[in-house]
Amino acid sequence: MINRHDPDYHRATLTRRSDDDLAASILLALNYSRRTKQTSVSQGLIQMDCVALCYCPEGLWVASNTRKISDDDLETLRTFLCDQNIDIYVVVNGSGGMHAEMQLLKELLEVYTKGQIQELGLRMGVSKACCGRCADKLREYSISFTEEHDSPVVNWESPD
Ligand SMILES: [Zn+2]
Repeated sequence: MINRHDPDYHRATLTRRSDDDLAASILLALNYSRRTKQTSVSQGLIQMDCVALCYCPEGLWVASNTRKISDDDLETLRTFLCDQNIDIYVVVNGSGGMHAEMQLLKELLEVYTKGQIQELGLRMGVSKACCGRCADKLREYSISFTEEHDSPVVNWESPD
């Protein structure tokens, strides 16, 4: 469990990331630098946004709580992953602002049963620590992730 108000939060966030967390962070950063004003206030809002990704049997699925991920973002992500041919699908679910992890889980539930998802043993890369509610839901579906925080959150929508 990580406290987002801890002065050590940003260092911890940078050092405890796995490769798929970093890929999610890079996708969010690319999107921000391309589409958000280059002022410290505007760029600072990146803390409010989140990208999650999951290597599914169908390919790499990505989702964001609020950002519109575009083809040029995906093209740069392919370069980062050193795989120009990887199939990447942008998943959009929820009524606006649904947490990225839950958008991916909702999409998985369109294709698989709960038991099948649990058997897949998936992992999600996330650009920041998951909130407690997403973390509980991911554990319920046997999906692993790096870290969770315990701050209250907004816009949480259940995927099931
Ligand atoms: Zn969440």
